[in-house]
Amino acid sequence: MRAWAEINLDNLEYNIKKIRELSNGRELMAIIKADAYGMGAVSIARELSKIGINIFGVSSLDEGIELRNKGIESDILILAGIFDEELKEAENRDLQVTITDKAQIEYIKKNNLSLKIHLKIDTGMGRVGFTVEEGLEAVEKCRRNGIEVVGIYSHLSVSDESDSHSIEYTKNQLQKFEIFEKVEDIKYLHILNSGGIIKFSDTSYGNLVRAGVMMYGFYGEGKIEELKPVFTLKSRVLFLKKLGEDMDISYGRIGKGKKGDMIATVSIGYADGVRRELSNKGTVEILGVECKIIGRVCMDMLMVKIPREIEDKIKVGEEVIVLGKDIYSKSLIIGCSIYELFTGLSRRVTRVYIKNKKSYFINSLIGD
Ligand SMILES: *Cc1c(COP(=O)(O)O)cnc(C)c1O
Repeated sequence: MRAWAEINLDNLEYNIKKIRELSNGRELMAIIKADAYGMGAVSIARELSKIGINIFGVSSLDEGIELRNKGIESDILILAGIFDEELKEAENRDLQVTITDKAQIEYIKKNNLSLKIHLKIDTGMGRVGFTVEEGLEAVEKCRRNGIEVVGIYSHLSVSDESDSHSIEYTKNQLQKFEIFEKVEDIKYLHILNSGGIIKFSDTSYGNLVRAGVMMYGFYGEGKIEELKPVFTLKSRVLFLKKLGEDMDISYGRIGKGKKGDMIATVSIGYADGVRRELSNKGTVEILGVECKIIGRVCMDMLMVKIPREIEDKIKVGEEVIVLGKDIYSKSLIIGCSIYELFTGLSRRVTRVYIKNKKSYFINSLIGD
């Protein structure tokens, strides 16, 4: 194997227990959109189903269908808005949908679709959904037309930030949404995402939370102390050389090797999801030691400078930790969110699932 993501299902299970504690007994919807943030939606859904998760959130119709095709029978909610012409298939596959405007309610009625819907309220995200007043009317409209409203929800835009303006903004969103508590016979009322669960579980309402990134041990501001990291991106040393003279390293000649330096070429690149912004800036870990990336990250390989202390120990084939616990600090170097690093892992990175501390199964380009 040249590049793989280890996904620790023991830690995932541990995190789920912790999230349940943190969210004060609310039901837990596991958000597994974008291929479960790169962890593999089908594998993650199967594992989570075994430990009592009964409702999943995905982004699109196709993501829902993928889970159904692989035998996941739990409730599945499509979180992003949906186009009218997709609704029939959602009905066929028993996928719950997010409804964001009045015309869509009329479409459902006109086409006599029997769908389970969640109404989305825009309390400040500014993306999709009804205003609070429109939302209250929409509930009535659905009821008059015999459409089943399973849930009402909203989404927080700055719940993972800790400055006072963000906290005020989130409180305001929570307060706007509170009126929906008074609507009777709604199975699920939900607003808390990872940041919300961490910061607002005690002070807010609703009976369901939507946990995404924190299942993997992280949220917007980095690692969460109570949780364990689920994901580690690994690769191996493909080639080693000791420079006989000063030498430029990689495309663009921004990497400057010096006579006597030991340079290792690692078998992973930006087409696997290692961001090019880490060129000359990022690090990897080999034999427990930090090694600086030298020169540009290439599509399939990158070069690192080997510190003297491990020069005698390192061999071709040595394991390299490319990204893991340090995902937040790397996101700061790159100037991106940790979400982008998770979801940027490409298909050719083999997923290795660890369970009971052992490799449990793998999923690669050439099969399971
Ligand atoms: C992605 C998403 C979530 C999960 O967000 P995290 O920050 O990963 O917990 C929750 N709700 C909605 C509507 C989402 O789109």
